[in-house]
Amino acid sequence: MSNTSNTHEVIPAVEILSVEKTYPNGTHALMPVDLHIEEGEFITLLGPSGCGKSTLLKMVAGLLEPSDGRLLLWRRPVHKLEESQKKMAFVFQSPTLMPWANVQTNVRLPLDLAGVPRTEADARVAEALELVGLSKFADALPRALSGGMQMRVSIARGLVTNPDLLLMDEPFGALDEITRHKLDSDLLELWRKKKLTVIFVTHSIHEAVFLSTRVIMMAARPGRVVEQFRIDEPFPRTADFMVSPSFSQYAKQLQDSLLRASTSHEEVTP
Ligand code: ADP
Repeated sequence: MSNTSNTHEVIPAVEILSVEKTYPNGTHALMPVDLHIEEGEFITLLGPSGCGKSTLLKMVAGLLEPSDGRLLLWRRPVHKLEESQKKMAFVFQSPTLMPWANVQTNVRLPLDLAGVPRTEADARVAEALELVGLSKFADALPRALSGGMQMRVSIARGLVTNPDLLLMDEPFGALDEITRHKLDSDLLELWRKKKLTVIFVTHSIHEAVFLSTRVIMMAARPGRVVEQFRIDEPFPRTADFMVSPSFSQYAKQLQDSLLRASTSHEEVTP
């Protein structure tokens, strides 16, 4: 079965319109970027370090102001959305859990901050823990969990607010290969089940091919989008896909593109 996002009315979840970023210290992190992301897409941002992946993601999240351009979520300016209208969650590279609080309390944090009544909050936490396969660990402290499990807690904390848009900044980069692949597979399941739109930052070509409906290749100095690739493969994607000829072809294309992106510097004075 293929992703259904292209078969019905196309709703833009994210519109990035000539968005640029220069940091206060003068670093020109991003040249104008134009990207349209439809509801239900799984987008990966790939590119060498310093090409502005995190900067772009943080601007979509409203955590960072663009220097120029416009950013719309569901056709509305991101900075004009109320917290409750944002319908997005941000999952960072490290799980950033409260070490003194158990799993349940960690996952409940966004709901506590939003003043959601306790009974409703607990029901939603239970659902989120079920989704990431951690129901049995609700009372555990973070230090009792493996790195992969801690990352699942972080994802559950993102999902507990019922977001439509999930922004993930290299969430599995610090994990071993097997754990990472398991979490990639589980993430795809969640994406399909919850009909999420995902923007995912990674350094890994294989992760990008396995997960994405579309890969955005970026280059550095200054940061910019250089190429885009549709990964036109059906879902669910299994381990078989990873050893298929088409997987190798996509990986080769991205490898070549990444090489071009890593060696192409625009001659732009800072
Ligand atoms: P990536 O995520 O692709 O590694 P970043 O978005 O982190 O790239 O960084 C893009 C560029 O902006 C880099 O040159 C980086 O050094 C610079 N940069 C990132 N954050 C800041 C900041 N807070 N202040 C100044 N420069 C920054």
